[in-house]
Amino acid sequence: MVRPKKHLGQHFLTDQNIARKIVGLISTSNATVIEIGAGTGVLTKFLIEDQLEKLHIIEIDEESVDYLHANFPELASKISLEDFLKSDLSVFQAPITIIGNFPYNISSQIFFQVLNYKHEVNEVVCMIQKEVAERLASSPGNKTYGILSVLLQAWYSIEYQFTVGEKVFNPPPKVKSAVIRLKRNETDHLDCNEKLFQQIVKKGFNQRRKTLRNALREYVTPSIIENDFFNKRAEQLSVSDFVSLTNLIESSKNTGIL
Ligand code: SAH
Repeated sequence: MVRPKKHLGQHFLTDQNIARKIVGLISTSNATVIEIGAGTGVLTKFLIEDQLEKLHIIEIDEESVDYLHANFPELASKISLEDFLKSDLSVFQAPITIIGNFPYNISSQIFFQVLNYKHEVNEVVCMIQKEVAERLASSPGNKTYGILSVLLQAWYSIEYQFTVGEKVFNPPPKVKSAVIRLKRNETDHLDCNEKLFQQIVKKGFNQRRKTLRNALREYVTPSIIENDFFNKRAEQLSVSDFVSLTNLIESSKNTGIL
């Protein structure tokens, strides 16, 4: 067996039915399937049944990789010993489906990496900490709605699937878990400067209790300050509101009126 390592977020799922159910959530056929962090292969086993042809494993832990080679010889060349956060996904044939029981300590960073490849990644099926799952799937007006909710929902529809208790892991995590599915929407570009959009979303939520007039102080000019967006807080804005706000700020920059 592999000795679970805390710093790698290793909590091995022990319930075969849950593993089967997670793998069964993949809705795309013929995509390249990348499993992040296969560990001892509880999901991998079911992925091999369904998806072997186009399956690829990215696992950072050498001991797990050795275990996978020994127990799943059919995977042979399909396992990379590497850090997913540094992986170059452009080497894979799109569309890409990502699946995994993610290491919870880096799940947000994994989603930022997914966003770097949003034009290639068409689906994500994953288990993460329950609170994070709720945040990602949250809608405007909720306290849990945040940066990643907006940035991901701009490109993906997010479905909360089911909650998973602590006891089905070895060792049990301190938190509850949940499985979510992200499916790419029809958007191929946002109708605004996408870089500025991302900055505004981040800055807006960094001081989430303040109105956008204060949180986005550095972007607000006298010509736009009366706009009603600036009386609101970031958590009140939908994705399309943020697109409009980005255009408003961009246009006021372009006119040069300060
Ligand atoms: N899929 C297994 C293991 C889940 S635990 C199961 O369900 O039981 C999370 C896994 O992610 C561990 O195997 C850990 O080694 C791996 N991991 C942690 N950080 C990683 C990273 N940066 N890149 C790839 N894999 C990582």
